[in-house]
Amino acid sequence: LFEGLQEKLSKAFKTLSGKGKITEKNIKEAIKMVKLSLLEADVNYKVVKEFIAEVTEKATGEEVLKSLTPDQMFIKILRDELIRVMGEKSQLSLVHSPSYIMMVGLQGSGKTTSAAKLANLLKKKGKKPFLVAADTYRPAAIDQLITLGKKIDVPVFCGDRKNPVKIVREAIKEVKDSGYNVVIFDTAGRLHIDDEMMNELEEIKDILNPDEILMVVDAMAGQDAVNSAKIFNERLDVTGYVVTKMDGDARGGVILSIRYITNKPIKFIGVGEKIEDLEEFHPERIASRILGLGDVLSLIEKAEQELDKDKMQRLGKKMLNAEFTLEDFQEQLKEIKKLGSLSKIVEMLPGSPKVDINQSEKELKVIEAIINSMTPEERRNPKILNASRKKRIAKGSGTSVQEVNKLLKNYEEMKKMMKIFKKGKLPFNLKGFKI
Ligand code: GDP
Ligand code: MG
Repeated sequence: LFEGLQEKLSKAFKTLSGKGKITEKNIKEAIKMVKLSLLEADVNYKVVKEFIAEVTEKATGEEVLKSLTPDQMFIKILRDELIRVMGEKSQLSLVHSPSYIMMVGLQGSGKTTSAAKLANLLKKKGKKPFLVAADTYRPAAIDQLITLGKKIDVPVFCGDRKNPVKIVREAIKEVKDSGYNVVIFDTAGRLHIDDEMMNELEEIKDILNPDEILMVVDAMAGQDAVNSAKIFNERLDVTGYVVTKMDGDARGGVILSIRYITNKPIKFIGVGEKIEDLEEFHPERIASRILGLGDVLSLIEKAEQELDKDKMQRLGKKMLNAEFTLEDFQEQLKEIKKLGSLSKIVEMLPGSPKVDINQSEKELKVIEAIINSMTPEERRNPKILNASRKKRIAKGSGTSVQEVNKLLKNYEEMKKMMKIFKKGKLPFNLKGFKI
């Protein structure tokens, strides 16, 4: 995903990080490269224009030029701007009971699949979904939804299979007082926008007065998708978008343009063909992915917010004086735990490495057990840990000398990490770092 865009942007960063000195000239050069990479990623030219204007204004400011890490300041500016054009996270607004969700979009965009995926997602959240197959235009569409419904154990209503308006009216009666509280209506698309389709959709919309009208667009369709998103919105006043096929080699144009062009939020993204492959849209995650950062920046922000600042400063000072002990490490681990579950932290790391969370949580427990089995003196001065002390600690913590040694090695790594943090550099190598 976004491979081309990512590659080109990282080249732009390199024009900055390679240079010893940052000047207005090489920042301009970097911005030019960003502009080209956005245009090549098929981002709408209006979006690119405003994006570049904003970035230029922020990046040529004093703060960036004088900053010790201008390349990272630049990345942060880009990231903030990417998030801004994609808009803030927006959730479904289901106020009625039952609430109606109408799926609309062109043929092949992923409406039927997304309807079932959404039913599945809502079911997992404790809702009682019900599906309605109102696409009578495409012969196999109804059976496709029925098959999907069976897979997730959600009922599918298809009435007479002939008249979409009639199907919709009957479905309303069917769910009334049934206990189903979200009804998702799959509708018919066409290969291109035409009046027959739009009229049908308008008629269904008038009957339903739906809580949500979600337009499904194919990320691979580029500017065509953005253009049809605009037209659908003008006709139907949609409430949001589902951008599908984000698992393919979509270039980024759709996801970066839709919000700006339509002023309506993306609510979900489709990331594969399987029923589970629908995610809520998190603009900050996408921005980080585009920049190849994982979610390191938000991890750092989170860390800054939640870690005890005084404690961190105290630990930081100790680091500088090279007195960072295992006792401090112990405190550090406690702070890290405050960040939330390990799985959440791992999710935010670059390249979202597939890590066995249970395994990592176990390792963390082992580490704590080992440190707890040390004497305060040993924690303060690990150098005194000879073979017999290690043996004692291993026994006391129910671990092995090998594990004690591994911890000591990690502790040394941690010291190195802390030094990098102190210098204000991003921990791009966090991926290989094990706690
Ligand atoms: P509709 O005509 O709008 O109802 O589109 P469908 O739901 O029938 O989907 C068209 C094709 O796109 C099907 O083969 C789906 O499996 C596929 N599809 C839908 N969403 C995704 C997605 O997020 N990723 C991938 N890879 N394929 C998808
Ligand atoms: Mg369909």
